[in-house]
Amino acid sequence: MEACDGRDAKVSSQKSVRNMKPGDEVYGIITDVMDSKALVAVVPISDDKRIRFSPGDTAALRVQDIADRYVKFVKDEFRVGDLIRARVVSTTNGIDLTTQGSSDYGVIKAFCSKCRNVLVLKENKLMCRDCERPETRKLSKYYLVTGE
Ligand SMILES: [Zn+2]
Repeated sequence: MEACDGRDAKVSSQKSVRNMKPGDEVYGIITDVMDSKALVAVVPISDDKRIRFSPGDTAALRVQDIADRYVKFVKDEFRVGDLIRARVVSTTNGIDLTTQGSSDYGVIKAFCSKCRNVLVLKENKLMCRDCERPETRKLSKYYLVTGE
């Protein structure tokens, strides 16, 4: 009982991740995709731009919070392993994310669902160079790998 008084909370670097609040921007890796939500391992985007990864900080991104347009299934926009940029909307019942409302948010790096090669962004379309297959995602303007 007395070990839980929280006095040491401020000196633990682990706590910085759990201090996320609505409005904070995060990077995340999609770890699970269901019809109605994705689970995302999140990393806060700090002022010094360094990424501190703390495994176990899982957030939820619901299908209705993905895009400003209607999205039927999460898998139409995100796949497991994709790297995304998102914003925290709530921390009251776990961490909830959104990728709505700004072209900042969405996938910044994605992988071919067939061969797992990184997808290249060319003329606003994502493409696997090896499979020559187009794929669709909710794209961020910060998408990292662009074609020539
Ligand atoms: Zn491929």
